[in-house]
Amino acid sequence: MDFEISEKMSTILEMVTAFMDDEVIPLEGEMLHGDPATLQALVGDAQVKVRQMDLWAPNHPVEFGGLGLGMLDHGLLSEALGRSPLGHVVFGTQAPDAGNIEILHAHATEEQRERFLRPLVAGEIRSCFSMTEPETAGSNPVLLATTAVKDGDDYVINGQKWFTSSADGADFAVLMAVTDPDAPPHQRASMILVPTATPGFNLVRNVSVMGHEGSGHASHGEVIYQDCRVPQSNVLGREGAGFAIAQERLGPGRIHHCMRWLGIASRAFDMMCDRANARVISLDGETLADRQVIQHWVAELDAEIRGARLQTLHAAWMIDQHGAKEARDEISAIKFSVANTMLKAVDTSIQVHGALGVTDDTVLSHWYRHERAARIYDGADEVHKTSLGRRILRRRATATA
Ligand SMILES: Cc1cc2nc3c(=O)[nH]c(=O)nc-3n(C[C@H](O)[C@H](O)[C@H](O)COP(=O)(O)OP(=O)(O)OC[C@H]3O[C@@H](n4cnc5c(N)ncnc54)[C@H](O)[C@@H]3O)c2cc1C
Repeated sequence: MDFEISEKMSTILEMVTAFMDDEVIPLEGEMLHGDPATLQALVGDAQVKVRQMDLWAPNHPVEFGGLGLGMLDHGLLSEALGRSPLGHVVFGTQAPDAGNIEILHAHATEEQRERFLRPLVAGEIRSCFSMTEPETAGSNPVLLATTAVKDGDDYVINGQKWFTSSADGADFAVLMAVTDPDAPPHQRASMILVPTATPGFNLVRNVSVMGHEGSGHASHGEVIYQDCRVPQSNVLGREGAGFAIAQERLGPGRIHHCMRWLGIASRAFDMMCDRANARVISLDGETLADRQVIQHWVAELDAEIRGARLQTLHAAWMIDQHGAKEARDEISAIKFSVANTMLKAVDTSIQVHGALGVTDDTVLSHWYRHERAARIYDGADEVHKTSLGRRILRRRATATA
């Protein structure tokens, strides 16, 4: 098992880290207090510089202008970009586009590649992923109720979705809808590409999350599909293959999330250490760093973040070597454990910052609000723990039978 970082990747990581420190993290003030339009313009300027450095969309295949990085390298990059909420957007690797690009790359027809994939990789358009519904349990998506019924050459789509992240301003949605209600549960649904300009695609609101509706990429849309008509040629892959393709999207996607969360954890940790060193708490100049309780928090978090990082790199290595299916246990384990490590790092850092930690003067409160969801999306903690625990117990039972 070799986690050695190649020379090429070390150079890329150095360039990316310097760019994050010099150009991206300084934009956070505008994100936290400023005007969304000004922020968008500043992000656009930074994206131009990233393209000039030939680092745009590095996770995408070379023929689409990316660097064709494997899972392990992309994971390392995701960690570096995760140190700011703006990192992935500035480098063109943000969710949900990154996951949509992967499945389009694997399943799109020639026509779909030209219409949807190429401009998406180029950053000319954005996309969203529209599966979860308010009225059915997202944890068991075979329950989903949105339908796509054939009529002539078209599908006519009806249903209600929410948490269609980044629908606001997206050019198209990758929609999950039931195309054959009589098929076995995992073959009932298909993925269908729905341009958001199609009549009947109604973005009714950006759902307010922890006090913020957000806008554009940073939003979670509620979408009502009402007699929304798209050609049957917009189905992605085979009809009935929706769950199989969703599964492909989720495995690697969880590595991207975990490495991004490690970026958050390590920045929150660095901020915590800097604050502890700087904050004077006694007349003779002692700082928070002189208190044993803080030293223990630092040591414990350091050990936890190191462990989470190795666990995630190992899962990425497993995917690179053996494919996502073989890495199921590793992926389930990191999904819940790294999410909790990241949240603990943010929470502990806030604690060390005192009142400053809950203000919007630092990025910590942004993460506290927006990253709580890490324990819910892409499989809630309990769902991953149940499936991992069940698999381990079954294997053990077979081995000892
Ligand atoms: C910030 C954010 C962004 C999102 N982005 C998208 C997106 O872009 N596209 C999209 O389609 N969806 C998106 N989602 C939705 C997400 O995928 C769902 O919230 C998730 O699948 C859980 O579904 P649910 O909310 O319906 O919860 P439910 O299925 O109702 O589950 C609620 C809770 O019940 C518990 N639970 C569920 N099942 C079990 C079980 N088997 N055993 C034990 N406990 C269980 C868990 O604690 C879970 O949190 C997003 C969600 C959030 C919060």
